[in-house]
Amino acid sequence: MRPHQKIAVIAGDGIGQEVVPAALRVLDHLEAKHGMGIEREVFDLGAERYLRDGTTMPAELMDRFRDEFGAIFLGALGDPRVKSNVHAKDILLGSRFQLDLFINLRPIKLLDPRYCPLKDKGPDDIDIMVFRENTEGLYTGVGGQFKRDTPDEVAIEAEINTRKGVERIIRAAFEYADARGKKSVCMSDKSNAMRHGHDLWQRTFKEVAAEYPHIEPFHLYVDVLAMELVRCPERFEVIVTNNLFGDIITDLGAQIQGGIGLAASGNIHPGQVSLFEPVHGSAPDIAGQGIANPLAAVLSLGMLLEHLGYPEHHESLKDAVAHCLEHQHVTRELGGELGTDAVIDAVIAFLG
Ligand code: ATP
Repeated sequence: MRPHQKIAVIAGDGIGQEVVPAALRVLDHLEAKHGMGIEREVFDLGAERYLRDGTTMPAELMDRFRDEFGAIFLGALGDPRVKSNVHAKDILLGSRFQLDLFINLRPIKLLDPRYCPLKDKGPDDIDIMVFRENTEGLYTGVGGQFKRDTPDEVAIEAEINTRKGVERIIRAAFEYADARGKKSVCMSDKSNAMRHGHDLWQRTFKEVAAEYPHIEPFHLYVDVLAMELVRCPERFEVIVTNNLFGDIITDLGAQIQGGIGLAASGNIHPGQVSLFEPVHGSAPDIAGQGIANPLAAVLSLGMLLEHLGYPEHHESLKDAVAHCLEHQHVTRELGGELGTDAVIDAVIAFLG
């Protein structure tokens, strides 16, 4: 069964206010052409709202997201006027934890070799799907400070690894590999140094892998993974790792795929409301100038459409982005001359 055919739109801060409306023009176009009938509701959340009335994320909204929506489309959160970034934490981390969005799905796909900083690498060499665990690890805030602001201060940050959490993210990676005919899944941890939590990853990986005998499981310590992604990215098809390592590795991935303006992501719970957002932040330095690259938002919209049951539209959006890159219909940071809206015009023209 398809998830709810309604999306919540949170443009958020900075260039989020530009790239989200821009990407929604592409959705308008697809609607006019294919008539999927996807409803939208726009939510006024972000730094402006927080500064106006102190609202970050109303509790009842999470219930509405869960009950009424198939997906949330988020632009970016972050504003120099909100130093604590409390609104971003409440909205983004709140959604991840409260909606149990346990898969942070980050494709690392090079669409055009000219944008790759690695020598002699083409689209066939860099095509990786990263499954980052999104609800546990070092990001739960478990820990504490003792004797704060004294010379004897102790600060503890605990890493949470549960059997259920580790198993479901590893299983999701294998399920993906299985469904797409991928030959291998790489699990990355630091079990040589982190002997308790990451031993759980080791044991669980072996057990789940045994259920998929046609897929080669292999393991790399995260430091080796970082080196290998630069030396030989073609080794990888699917990577599964924990929250912290996934955060770092996927930023490396964003660079080898052509930069942060092209990196898309999903925060997913299969079959339930899930959140899709470009990887870049609010980029206050370029906000309001109409020069933000909207292609990461377009690719994130593609992932959202796939989640709602339209993989064919995800494919056509990837083709449209590849076309824009090939023909230099791109913004300045990619060496082009176009503004945000003109790039979207090129995407729509390609879609026909
Ligand atoms: P935040 O605090 O919200 O994460 P940030 O500026 O620290 O914002 P990013 O927004 O990820 O972090 O951006 C880093 C730099 O990359 C920005 O200064 C901007 O110049 C550039 N950048 C990011 N996204 C885009 C984009 N979509 N188009 C063009 N340039 C971008």
